[in-house]
Amino acid sequence: MNSADTESGRSNANRGLAPLTCSCGRCGRPLAYEDRLMLAELTVCDACSDAFSLCVDCNAWTLLTELDAENSCSACRQATLPIQAYAYKPEPVFFGTGSKLFLGLELELNLEERSCDLPTLAGACLQILPYCYAKKDRSIRYGFELVSHPATLNYHRTAWSQALPAWNRIRQTHRFCCAGQTGIHVHLSKAFFSAAELAKLVYFCNQPTNRDFLAAIGQRPLGHWSRSEAGGIKQALSGEYDRYRVLNCNPAATVELRLFNGSERWEDILKNLEFADAIGHWIKQPDCRPGCDYRHFLAWLLGNPQPSGGYACLSDFIRQHIDLL
Ligand SMILES: [Zn+2]
Ligand SMILES: [Zn+2]
Repeated sequence: MNSADTESGRSNANRGLAPLTCSCGRCGRPLAYEDRLMLAELTVCDACSDAFSLCVDCNAWTLLTELDAENSCSACRQATLPIQAYAYKPEPVFFGTGSKLFLGLELELNLEERSCDLPTLAGACLQILPYCYAKKDRSIRYGFELVSHPATLNYHRTAWSQALPAWNRIRQTHRFCCAGQTGIHVHLSKAFFSAAELAKLVYFCNQPTNRDFLAAIGQRPLGHWSRSEAGGIKQALSGEYDRYRVLNCNPAATVELRLFNGSERWEDILKNLEFADAIGHWIKQPDCRPGCDYRHFLAWLLGNPQPSGGYACLSDFIRQHIDLL
């Protein structure tokens, strides 16, 4: 007992009261019993209470050092696994060979009913698509984002065709409401392009004459989440714009196509992957000059000879919707 305790103890005793003091469980300072705070099952003083905050998920007082970037405590983090935090960004693993263009797929999955156990559903998705991971996404009301590691178009095709029977069973037992509420994003490796090719890609995605075409391919109007606006190519490439563009150039290693409507149908997902791969290869063609618009792209895609990438799903989609253009 230090002198302060003795002093207060004596004065309490003089007044005929029991000496009610305790010490802070963090800094050890003595404090009057009525000034104590109980946080995370610890008695703490007012000054030490600054080291605690509420977990956003369970509302329990938690040491700041034990909260993650989104203010979830470790117990809540564990409970949602395998769904990772929004900020989760693993080291990329590159899947597939034969192409230098790697595509990263982001599929926002939103469920109609809140009764679904999300970690179980995410676990089932990852079991059939082991080159993916699941993470929280602030724009999804009740669901998660299924994100693939970078993979070649052919790797995506093979992985999904193997997963498809089980994926379709998941679709039958869960009511997804992706369209109109979520999006699909496809990342393309920046290393695949020269600076001039990237500039052509930015120009293509922002050219006014391409906007109806891009909206038809994306199966949704261009707008808030994926804008197409005339603007400086340099600024776009140097990350001066927000990410809500048809083509977001801000990530360090990729550019991101954000125009696609949400869907959990493989036909839509594949069409989007094929579009990303096709546009990436077309932009590298020697006769793809700056200012070439979607008609040049279609002439190449549907022409003779067909591009070697094999874009049957995209070509079929375009043939069915070409009268819209
Ligand atoms: Zn303290
Ligand atoms: Zn918690």
